[in-house]
Amino acid sequence: MSDREEFRTEVREWLDQNAPKSLVGHQVDELTGNWGGRNAVFDPPDMKAWLEVMAERGYTAPTWPREYGGGGLSNEMAKVLAEEVARKQLPPALSGFGLTMIGPTLLRYGNEEQKREHIPKICRGEIRWCQGYSEPDSGSDLASLQTRAVRDGDDFIINGQKVWTSYADLSDWIFALVRTDPDAKKQEGITFILIDMATPGVSVVPISLISGKSPFCETRFDDVRVPVRNVIGEINGGWTVAKALLGHERSMIASLFGSASGGDRRDGGGGALAGLGRSYLGVDSEGRVANPTLRDEIAQNEMDTKALGLTIRRASDSAKAGHQPGPESSLFKVYGTELNKRRTELAVRIAGPQALGWEGPGFEPDELQRTRDWLRARGNSIEGGTSEIQLNIIAKRVLGLPD
Ligand SMILES: Cc1cc2nc3c(=O)[nH]c(=O)nc-3n(C[C@H](O)[C@H](O)[C@H](O)COP(=O)(O)OP(=O)(O)OC[C@H]3O[C@@H](n4cnc5c(N)ncnc54)[C@H](O)[C@@H]3O)c2cc1C
Repeated sequence: MSDREEFRTEVREWLDQNAPKSLVGHQVDELTGNWGGRNAVFDPPDMKAWLEVMAERGYTAPTWPREYGGGGLSNEMAKVLAEEVARKQLPPALSGFGLTMIGPTLLRYGNEEQKREHIPKICRGEIRWCQGYSEPDSGSDLASLQTRAVRDGDDFIINGQKVWTSYADLSDWIFALVRTDPDAKKQEGITFILIDMATPGVSVVPISLISGKSPFCETRFDDVRVPVRNVIGEINGGWTVAKALLGHERSMIASLFGSASGGDRRDGGGGALAGLGRSYLGVDSEGRVANPTLRDEIAQNEMDTKALGLTIRRASDSAKAGHQPGPESSLFKVYGTELNKRRTELAVRIAGPQALGWEGPGFEPDELQRTRDWLRARGNSIEGGTSEIQLNIIAKRVLGLPD
């Protein structure tokens, strides 16, 4: 038996013995999964035991080094683990910005002390992270950010405001960009720093979205004292770290919408749009969606989803083999998010008047959620850098076109 198949047998047996029985078949997507943190809510409650057994074995971050709490698995074995978890239809034991954004960045740019302090807590889901990049006047032009950090002995004193900070109200730590040299060229006066949200002077106010939810906040810093040892990389050298993290963020966003199960996982790939079409539009004599125009659009959308999913899988294999995401992650980000917008729009058109509910009687819960998902998808092509900005990056850094 090959090493791979031997490992598969071992994982299968281990999952049979350790995965909570109540979670088998309880597949949820990354967004609604467990994001951990000091105030984590485990729903269903067995998610707590599931996280603990997976973290104990390093399987929440299977390819990260064992010395920091990862699984130390090769890319190939990590794939086997993912396949076996998917085969039992188990939910992800842990999701969030720790695993997808700050963890990989710390592994590359953090010093030994920082890795030992933060990475094991990420692997065990003890700390939930949020991202403090955007400011009221600095979104696309991120390097113009104004949040100021002034050195005071072994600390920085931070003052300023971040905005659109996803889940800041639920997070324990924030990775933030601050201006440490106001006189330098704008990219050269920025520092990447980690801040405990429980530090006096940090405050958050949730902002409501068109979909009715408040997934993000305004985050203020008023005389927040942060140790200099929390700087990742060089003081004034944060722009390099920031860009590397954005590569991970864009790959993560794209993979959410390009995974084999499809973007808005309710009406996503795997034939779900076709099923929706059959139930709302009826079928023709051959059992196909009756409306030929929408049938073509459904087929196109499902082919595009499949093609993106396979391309992302190829890129993620090469990332696990050591290749850092570069400007090409912008291709996935722009395509994945625009595809998800098309997909949610198509789901609403298929459902017709049943997609026009907001609350109250006359609509099934899935129908009400579909309307909100469609509205939420509008933000996909803004978060993590707008589609226009991704197209600029592709033009300059992938295609090499002149400014
Ligand atoms: C759902 C959601 C979650 C988010 N979560 C976070 C988070 O957790 N942390 C965080 O820091 N930020 C977060 N953001 C903020 C996000 O990164 C910014 O909204 C984004 O970078 C755009 O910045 P802006 O909103 O200031 O728009 P602007 O930069 O003001 O852009 C306005 C419009 O002008 C266009 N534009 C601007 N410059 C150019 C150019 N050079 N060429 C062509 N077109 C251009 C843009 O494409 C856009 O259409 C989130 C945003 C959303 C919608």
